[in-house]
Amino acid sequence: MIQFQYERVSTPAAALSALSNSGNAKFIAGGTNLVDLMKRNVMSPRKLIDINSLPLKHIEQQNGKVTIGALALNVQVADSKLILEKHPLLSQALNAGASAQIRNMATVGGNMLQRTRCHYFYDTTLPCNKREPGSGCGALQGFNRMHAIFGASEHCIAVHPSDMSVALVALDATVLVRGPKGERRIPFADFHRLPGDHPEKDTNLQANELITAVEIPDNAFNQHAHYYKVRDRASYAFALVSVAAALNIDGGMIKEARLAMGGVAHKPWRLTEAEKSLAGKPANEDSFRQAAAIAMQGAKAYKYNAFKLKLGENVIVEALKTAAQKA
Ligand code: SF4
Repeated sequence: MIQFQYERVSTPAAALSALSNSGNAKFIAGGTNLVDLMKRNVMSPRKLIDINSLPLKHIEQQNGKVTIGALALNVQVADSKLILEKHPLLSQALNAGASAQIRNMATVGGNMLQRTRCHYFYDTTLPCNKREPGSGCGALQGFNRMHAIFGASEHCIAVHPSDMSVALVALDATVLVRGPKGERRIPFADFHRLPGDHPEKDTNLQANELITAVEIPDNAFNQHAHYYKVRDRASYAFALVSVAAALNIDGGMIKEARLAMGGVAHKPWRLTEAEKSLAGKPANEDSFRQAAAIAMQGAKAYKYNAFKLKLGENVIVEALKTAAQKA
């Protein structure tokens, strides 16, 4: 592992100041991904700025929304009475996302910023445009079983690994960030990027900005919500395919639907056309199958991940069925 400097800060202003005064510095909180990346020489920051003392651990309801501080631990959010009551989809996604040990360390902000688990990205002897722009994509013609079926580019076909982010995009969350020019708000759907020509950029967060919180507006999806994750090992693994499904049902009819997928794209993949197709339909398997077919339009598989096309459709249907059956 490389040598690096370490600094602990206790206010957001001090965190931003430390960042602007250092070249190649990174914030660290739980460190559950960054430390792994440093051990493998995938990332080599010269300075770590420890932000664990910042007052960003709140989980509170006010003015028609729930606000979650960027440093709230995944376990605190998943077990929060407020989240369980108002946004059970988020709690389910967090519990599906990682082991108890990881959930005890990982923060909300760090979860959003975790990097792809593409094997070629982690192996510094292999080409990877995300790790080293211009070096090529080992996965494109390689073993791409875990890779994208939506939104990929010729430069990168990696998928975003966070389960929490799939629930947050379905819940229309907003990311609050702070930088040298003040605060700004980023709709969650615009926070992560598609790879395009710049797969080295995972998000639209600027290098001099700090995530301070996530907001989730109140909604009527708390009765019928389900996060369904299919993975190779039940004892925690990243998603082959996951689906966040939430329905607002009245008298057996769907008033509104929310759907997003994980494990299929470089960002959490919102399925807005499928959502629209469900509005006004009966909450039954026919409606769910039609929505799943719409959701999978435009999907493109590579040599080893064609199984995701059928799997994705089936997981959408099962997630919607389970969500609808919840009382
Ligand atoms: Fe790198 Fe992306 Fe290709 Fe994986 S898919 S090797 S992360 S460029």
